[in-house]
Amino acid sequence: MQHFASDNYAGICPEALQALLAANTGHAPAYGDDEWTRRVSDRLRELFATECDVYFVFNGTAANSLSLASLCQSYHSVICHELAHVATDECGGPEFFSNGSKLLPATGEGGKLTPEAVYEVITRRNDIHYPKPRVVTLTQATELGTLYQPPEIAAIADLARQHGLRVHMDGARFANAVAALGVAPADITWRAGVDVLCFGGTKMGLPVGEAVVFFDRRLSEDFAWRCKQAGQLASKMRFLSAPWLGVLEGEAWLNHARHANAMAQRLAGGLASIPAAQLLFPVEANGVFAILPTAVQDGLRARGWRFYTFIGAGGARFMCAWDTTPESVDALISDLRELTS
Ligand SMILES: *Cc1c(COP(=O)(O)O)cnc(C)c1O
Repeated sequence: MQHFASDNYAGICPEALQALLAANTGHAPAYGDDEWTRRVSDRLRELFATECDVYFVFNGTAANSLSLASLCQSYHSVICHELAHVATDECGGPEFFSNGSKLLPATGEGGKLTPEAVYEVITRRNDIHYPKPRVVTLTQATELGTLYQPPEIAAIADLARQHGLRVHMDGARFANAVAALGVAPADITWRAGVDVLCFGGTKMGLPVGEAVVFFDRRLSEDFAWRCKQAGQLASKMRFLSAPWLGVLEGEAWLNHARHANAMAQRLAGGLASIPAAQLLFPVEANGVFAILPTAVQDGLRARGWRFYTFIGAGGARFMCAWDTTPESVDALISDLRELTS
């Protein structure tokens, strides 16, 4: 049975698995000094059409925490959406690894920051007693399954730049965003003003790992030491990097993300036909949020379905993954229909 609790419930996609197995031949230099890591870093530079510094870490919490720490001094602050993963689901990691940089949450419809909300936080205080805003972090796709359009990113990044702030992007679902927007990866990152991207591999179909991509290469100074100290430097790095090669060498990463997005659309379509279910946010990537009566939630769980209700603004969250089948979506809809009729 497939589940909709999270896209990280899915296994490893075939392209990543094949690349992982192919890397398992003989001996290779450790700690990233291997040909797979070199090749995938070059491939990422090609994909983003710019020179950038690339690092691989085990998970998104580390990618976000360590990259934010590299942008901040301990007396700085990071403006984020109040529902941002960095604020709600990283156990204080960004604050810990930055030695105390404070997260300053702001509100915004659909999980998205606006220039107005960011401006309010930047200009709220400028005295010595308040942590100095240094970074704006955007999540793309957002925690609520919505997307920032390229001009929305550019507007926030322009404002940030005018006030001397850096722009960080949590791209745990960056692939879903690129696939849905149909843009070049550069158009929603460095060309729009993003300085550093945490490009999610895990939810995209890799066994493990995220890539931290520094578009402003000055910001990555000593980042390798930061990773090592945090226990995020893989000694057999090739097994973290090779799966990326498998999905990035062709279009597999985009095809899988497109599929996951399409399954979310299918699910949203089904939900729209069920009067007792109420969609909460526009379905723009691979996540669907809906308000369901408690009895229906219990009924779904009793039938074995797993989904989260503690994320975002409440409601039941259903995530689609690279391997979610139309049959699974239809089976979920069919159970929902029975439980609500
Ligand atoms: C899943 C996720 C992460 C990464 O979480 P880890 O469990 O630490 O890998 C980061 N940001 C967002 C928005 C996520 O959904």
